[in-house]
Amino acid sequence: MPKKPLKILIAAAEVAPFAKTGGLADVAGSLPKALAKMGHDVRIVMPKYKQIMEGDYLVDYPVEMDHHVESGILKKTRLYSGTTEIPVYLIDNHQYFYRDGIYCFPDEAERFNFFNKAILGMLPRIGWQPHLIHCNDWQSALVPLILRTKHADDPYYQTMGTLLTIHNLQYQGLFPRQTLTLLGLGDEYFTPERLEFYGQINFMKAGIVYADLISTVSKQYALEIQTSEYGERLDGLLRKRAQDLYGIVNGIDYEEYNPETDKHIYQNYSLETLDRKKENKLRLQQDMGLPPGPAPLLGMVSRLVDQKGIDLISGIFEQLMDLGIQLVLLGSGDDHYQKLFAELKMKHHNQVAIYLGFNPDLAQKIYAGADMFLMPSRFEPCGLSQLISLRYGTVPIVREVGGLADTIENYDEVKGKGNGFSFKPYETGALIDTVRRAVALYQNQPNQWRQLMVNAMKCDFSWNKSAQEYVMLYEKAIHQNLATLYRMKEA
Ligand code: ADP
Repeated sequence: MPKKPLKILIAAAEVAPFAKTGGLADVAGSLPKALAKMGHDVRIVMPKYKQIMEGDYLVDYPVEMDHHVESGILKKTRLYSGTTEIPVYLIDNHQYFYRDGIYCFPDEAERFNFFNKAILGMLPRIGWQPHLIHCNDWQSALVPLILRTKHADDPYYQTMGTLLTIHNLQYQGLFPRQTLTLLGLGDEYFTPERLEFYGQINFMKAGIVYADLISTVSKQYALEIQTSEYGERLDGLLRKRAQDLYGIVNGIDYEEYNPETDKHIYQNYSLETLDRKKENKLRLQQDMGLPPGPAPLLGMVSRLVDQKGIDLISGIFEQLMDLGIQLVLLGSGDDHYQKLFAELKMKHHNQVAIYLGFNPDLAQKIYAGADMFLMPSRFEPCGLSQLISLRYGTVPIVREVGGLADTIENYDEVKGKGNGFSFKPYETGALIDTVRRAVALYQNQPNQWRQLMVNAMKCDFSWNKSAQEYVMLYEKAIHQNLATLYRMKEA
C-alpha cells in the first residue's frame, strides 16, 4: 500500500480493449492497472462509442452546451488488475457517439467539448472526488481549462490537480474561432496567451496552458517538442512551460503481451524455450502466402502515415528485395501508402505479404513470427510496437528519434550489448545500411543474433517503473495546484 493512496481519474478518447486506434488506447488501458496494483483508487472515463458493449446504467445528467442542454448518460463497465476492479465510466450521448468509427467527424469540436464538460459533470453524481484528473491528448485537454474557468470558484473542483499527457503533438484539435462560443468563453480567450493559435482555437494548447503539469511519453520527445523541428508550432509555449514539462516512457502490459501465454500466437515460447519462436515464423509465412524458410523476415505493424517513415521504406524497396528478405506488413492509413504497398506486393509476391486493415490478432502473430521489426519513424513520441517486439524477441530496426532513441540501444557486436539496430539521419542510405547490417548479423552470426534476441527479451518495459514516475508527477501536480490555491486565497 502506498503512504497515501491517491484518487486518480484517467480521461481518454480511446482505451483498450474497448476502443483503439493506436498507442493512446494501450496506455490508457494498461497504466491504470499498474496504478491499481500499487494501491491507488484509479478510475477511467471515456466516450461510449457504438462499438462498445452497453455497460451498467448509472445516471442521466444535464451537460450545458452553448445554447442548449445535452444529456449525459453515464454507464459503467470495468477493467481488472488481478482481482482489483477498475471502474470505467462510459459517457453516452447517441447524437455524438453512436456512429461508425471514433474520430474524423465534422463536429469533432462539439463532440469533445461535450465529453470534457460531461467528465466534470459526472463527478458529483458518482460521489467521488479525485485528487487529480489525468488528461490525454487534445480530446480531453479542455478539462483543465473548464476547471480553472467555469469551476474556478467552486470548492468541490478547486482542489483537483491536472496533468496533461501529450501522446502525439501532431494532432492538436484545431477549430475555427467561433468554437469559443461553443466552449462558453468570450473573446478575451482569443489571445496567444490563451487559446488562440494562428487564427484558430487549439484544444491541445488549452491543456498545455491550463494543466498544472504536462508530460509526454518519453524523455527524448519531451526535449524534441521544445524545438521548432518537432514542436508543431507549439514549441515556444512548451519552452515557456519547460519547468512543468516531463517525459515518462510508456510501459506495455506484460501480462497481455507475453509470448509464454499469448493466445493469439501459433506457439508459445519464453527465454528458456526460445527455439520455439521459429514455429511462429514458419506458420506466419504459410498463412501469409510466403515461401516458408530461413529468409530474414521483417515485420511491420503500423499506421500508414508520414510519421512512420513509410517514404523511406518505399525509397529502398528494391534494395530491400535484393537482400532476399521477406516483409510482412499489417497497416491501415493513407490511401496512397495502401496503394503503394499493394503494388509492391503484386510485383514481389514471393517476398511481400500485406494485410491492409486493423487486426490485433494478426499483429501478435507478426510480433511473434518476425525476426526483425521495422520502424524508421520520422518522429515517434514513444512507440509501443518496438517495446512489444522486444518482449517477443523480435529485433527492432529503428530511427533514433523520440521514444525509439530512449528504448532501443544500437547493437555492439564487440561487447554483445544492445537490443536492436538504429540510425540517425532521416535518409534512405542510413536505413538500408542498417537493414544490411542487421541481415548480415542474422545470416552470418547466429550466436550473436541469439544474444541480441536474449538482450531484447531481458529488457523491462513493463509499467513498474513508469507508473511510479507518474505517481510522483501526480503528487507534484496536486501540490502545485494547492499551493496556487492558498496563494490566491491569501492575496
Ligand atoms: P501510434 O500510437 O503512433 O500508432 P504506437 O507504436 O505507439 O504507434 O502504437 C501502435 C499500437 O497500435 C501498437 O499496439 C500496434 O500493435 C497497434 N497497431 C497499429 N496498427 C495496427 C493494425 N493495423 N492492426 C492492429 N494493431 C495495430
